[in-house]
Order: sequence, then structure tokens, then C-alpha cells
Amino acid sequence: MRRTTFIESYGATCKNWTWSWSFVNKTQRFVIFGAWQEDSHHIAGRHLILDEHWATRIPKGSTKARRQPGYPQAIEHLSRVAEEGYALFTFPIWQASVGKTGAGRDPSSIGRFEPRLTPKTLVHEGGMWWAQDLSVVALHSEPDVQDDLADVGAPELGRDEGHSKPTGPGHYFPRDRKVREDVLKKSGEKCERKGCSEQLRYKSFLDVHHILGIAKSDRVTNCVALCPNCHRDAHYSPNKDALNKQLHAYARKRPSN
Ligand SMILES: [Zn+2]
Ligand SMILES: [Zn+2]
Repeated sequence: MRRTTFIESYGATCKNWTWSWSFVNKTQRFVIFGAWQEDSHHIAGRHLILDEHWATRIPKGSTKARRQPGYPQAIEHLSRVAEEGYALFTFPIWQASVGKTGAGRDPSSIGRFEPRLTPKTLVHEGGMWWAQDLSVVALHSEPDVQDDLADVGAPELGRDEGHSKPTGPGHYFPRDRKVREDVLKKSGEKCERKGCSEQLRYKSFLDVHHILGIAKSDRVTNCVALCPNCHRDAHYSPNKDALNKQLHAYARKRPSN
């Protein structure tokens, strides 16, 4: 099966079938990425789907880096996941045999793929984007170091019992701890939503919420400390857009940013 046929069978599309790395179905609100299967890009229930080093590429026999048009499109698709609640699906891809392409691994060196879509959770970390198995998220959520829809999306797991430490490969989402610490310090250990001011009751009581989504930025000006109730509101309340706007204005104006 051709890749185009496979993607189109899900009603997804892209700007260009030759250079695109990712695909979108705006009606059904999901995006599709290839997920690398090699060991070096597959750790503990997650597969690499995008690396910021793929923004440019040095073609074989050249010395000049060339912009990769698939990259900005992939970023646009990922921000739909991070900010607009689009679902993420991946299909397995393997690298072409060494020597076929120029230096470096990126989606232009895909050797083969399997026409099979799996739902995933997006993880952004150190310039790389990963597709995380949903089962791993459900079993090992650790609210105090993660912020995406998964951190507040599983009420049946009783996340306020946060004492059971994740075990084994489930210890994922190691966001920038410095950002988290800075945000908590600036917050005065209080929920930063206007009119709330819940105090820190115990360690890990406050979440650090990424207002623009984790894929966009992991910076203090994009983060606020929120109590669990306000954090849920920021993701799920009907007024979440207005709330996030207010939180963002607040975070940007915080002293000594
Ligand atoms: Zn959040
Ligand atoms: Zn609050």
C-alpha cells in the first residue's frame, strides 16, 4: 500500500504528498505522524516523531543546509494537538538502509512503514517530540512533573493519592524542573488564578500549568501554579479559553520575569 493511499483512507491530508511528514484531518480533529521504530528512537513506551534538528538538512553531496518544508507543517500539526485538543495517531516507520540518503535521520529517510494507526499522547522534551503509549500514561501519571491533557484527564485514577511513585519505565515527562521550581517560587506557593489563592497544603499540591501547551514552550512566562481544581478548569471548563488568556496575561507580567 502506498503511504498516500493509507493516509487518505483516514480522510487526512497535507500540503504536499512528497515532502510532508505529518497529516491532518480538521473535520475529525486529529493528526497523523510516523513513529520511528529503531531502538535509538524508541524508549519506554514512546517513539520519536519529530526532532528540532530536522528543521534543516544537508543534502547528499552538498555542504549547505536546506530548510525542510515538512518541519513547519509538523510543528503546526503538533500545536493543534497541544493547544486545540486534536488527537494524535501514529503509524510505525523504519529508516531506509544506510547510505541511501544524506546525513542524519529524518522523515525523508523513511524506508518502509506499516499501515496501522495507534492513538498516542504527545510528549515534548529537549527539542524532541515523542508519541507516548496511552497505557503508559494511564498507569504512571505523575501530576507534579507533567502538564498535558493526560495529567488531568484520568479522574478515575485518583490522582490526589499522589504518593505511589511511578515504577520502571513509566517515569517519563521529565520537564524542566527548574521552570517548575521557579514558577512555584514566584507563585508564593499559592494558586495563581485570580480570586482563588489556595495555599500549598503539601508537597505536590500545586500543579504547574503550561498555558500554551507543553509543545509550545516550557518557560516561566508560559506557566502558572494552579491548585487541582483550577488546573482542571484550565483544561476542561467551558470558559477555559478566557481563563487561559487571563492566566497568560498574569504570567507575562509577573515581577522579575
Ligand atoms: Zn495544565
Ligand atoms: Zn485555584
